[in-house]
Amino acid sequence: MIVLSSVSKWYPNGARPALIDVSAEIGAGEFVFLVGPSGSGKSTLLRLLLREDRATSGQVVVAGRDVARIPDRRVPQLRRIVGCVFQDFRLLPNRTVAANVAFALDVVGRPRHVVRSVVPEVLELVGLGEKADRYPDELSGGEQQRVAIARAFVGRPRVLLADEPTGNLDPATSIEIMSLLDAVHRAGTTVVMATHNASLVDAMRRRVLELGDGALIRDEADGRYDQTA
Ligand code: ADP
Ligand code: ADP
Repeated sequence: MIVLSSVSKWYPNGARPALIDVSAEIGAGEFVFLVGPSGSGKSTLLRLLLREDRATSGQVVVAGRDVARIPDRRVPQLRRIVGCVFQDFRLLPNRTVAANVAFALDVVGRPRHVVRSVVPEVLELVGLGEKADRYPDELSGGEQQRVAIARAFVGRPRVLLADEPTGNLDPATSIEIMSLLDAVHRAGTTVVMATHNASLVDAMRRRVLELGDGALIRDEADGRYDQTA
């Protein structure tokens, strides 16, 4: 589903590359944790997968598409295949929960009647059926992240990228969000989750990719947050 071949990324004026010669394959339906200290390149890697940025060298292939070669006008098609959630939720503050989710379908041109039926379903799925008409600032952080996951998942993307999705949440809420992402994975979605949450990684025991100073320094099945000796 995702193939990285010798991917390097230099930012303009960067003193060193943000990613150096990263190669990895992530199969359809896998769940992968992406770990590494701040500045190790996790967000950069996710941005390349979303085509928010391009690699300086090497190739990034998502669902058979060389993402650097996708014309700008076709990038929205990639965003149907690859959903994403962020640490800071990124909801539209002046729109209701339902409107935030509907927006993701509107931007990809789904017909109104589809939006009207699918939005309540996905809100039910994330446990927010009762809160469809609330505004983001009326919700807890965990609820806001549920909305963000609903918005990312409503178009049934093949891949869900999560950049530090529990970074602003307390431990109990983090576990709830982890379970929701696990449910998204069990529904058949390939999930890549960048995280600093060692206890979640250790509890889940999934594949772990670790970056250090932009290099892939570990690719371990059933891994923990910290490499075991
Ligand atoms: P992480 O997500 O693991 O914290 P990042 O991908 O954000 O790491 O950063 C990797 C490296 O790239 C860091 O050295 C960071 O300072 C640098 N970097 C990230 N974004 C930019 C940018 N837009 N311009 C210049 N340097 C950047
Ligand atoms: P961008 O400027 O990143 O292209 P837009 O202006 O289209 O984003 O969207 C505004 C907000 O809605 C952003 O925070 C973006 O993350 C979010 N968003 C847009 N489309 C989607 C989508 N299909 N799924 C999830 N979130 C989306």
